[in-house]
Amino acid sequence: PSQPTLSDIDLSKLKVTLAKELKDIPKPDDLVFGETMSDHMLVLEYTPEAGWSAPEIKPYGPLSLDPSASCFHYCTNIFEGMKAYLGPDGTPRLFRPELNMARLLNSSERVALPRFSPTALLELIKKLIAIDARWIPREPGCSLYIRPTMIGTLPSLAVMASTRATIFVILSPAGKMFKVPAGISLLAINDHVRAWPGGTGAHKLGLNYTPGFKPQRAALEKGYQQILWVLGDNITEAGGMNVAIVLKRPDGDMDIVTPPLDGTILPGITRASVLELLAAHGNETSLPYLSNKTRLHTHERVVTMSELERTWQDGTLLEAFSFGTAVVVTPIARIGWKGKDIELPPYAGNHLGPVARALLERLVDIQEGRVEWKGWS
Ligand code: PMP
Repeated sequence: PSQPTLSDIDLSKLKVTLAKELKDIPKPDDLVFGETMSDHMLVLEYTPEAGWSAPEIKPYGPLSLDPSASCFHYCTNIFEGMKAYLGPDGTPRLFRPELNMARLLNSSERVALPRFSPTALLELIKKLIAIDARWIPREPGCSLYIRPTMIGTLPSLAVMASTRATIFVILSPAGKMFKVPAGISLLAINDHVRAWPGGTGAHKLGLNYTPGFKPQRAALEKGYQQILWVLGDNITEAGGMNVAIVLKRPDGDMDIVTPPLDGTILPGITRASVLELLAAHGNETSLPYLSNKTRLHTHERVVTMSELERTWQDGTLLEAFSFGTAVVVTPIARIGWKGKDIELPPYAGNHLGPVARALLERLVDIQEGRVEWKGWS
């Protein structure tokens, strides 16, 4: 069967069925990430015979799937993670959502799932959020997490691409991720590998995450919150977050270094935004907490554990921080490596250094609509 065209989803056929009873919304302090779902979900199905079905927004509930469906056997599961925020005027806002749609389309192509129109899917997500807008927490730093998902539903045990698929989008309120960010601890490992050159690490596929669960559990038992994935000696990324380090230069400027998009890390939307904000500092904008005279030099290049240890020892390592949709920008306090701990320098009681702090504040201000910047929100 031929591939669907990108304009296959018919928005005019949207069918909305509202829930008869609405759920109680937990207080932000009681929220455990990812455990509470909103009242409604968006569902659409693809078959080669009929193309994309009429999209449906309906009460949140179970899906009915054939046990032989591709997603249960061959991991034809891809997803996105994005957030809706409330602006000062009470209007829901999304942060650069077209980049999430483009990444989802890329992921679908990587696992040979049917194509879809990214602009049509975004329109449908906006409608779903408008219907469930009361689920967006009002408290600053809180948001409604959005999980667009696509699964292969071809009912066949044959090892081949799934020509049928379901897209569904569910919403989950998220509390404050950074209650005074003290800094997270990471266990650096290279005996398990998350991604490798020529592999699938640059796509958001469910199958990239599963092999991390066992080392992640071991890291938790050793007292670390997340894994830092190291390929040989090269730092790649942490579980669900990209990473960067800040180095002091002899001329007083700062180098901000993050691993390159070489196929072994996810091209984070926060990563792209962080790089653009850093490059604009002192020219188009002034980031808070940083003097305009502090020149920031961004580098997308290999960062090794050896460089991390060396710069930590000679005192030029100023900050290490992680970033992604869930954590926004979170400082790294401690990295375990080969049986010892690299403790990052503290700043006034926590590990949020000036660069991470500037980025965190500016990003949250843009996301929540207090600062307008390039139409990102
Ligand atoms: N790396 C991985 C492995 C992730 O799962 C995520 C979260 N999507 C990120 C990095 C950060 O990406 P983003 O900034 O787009 O959320």
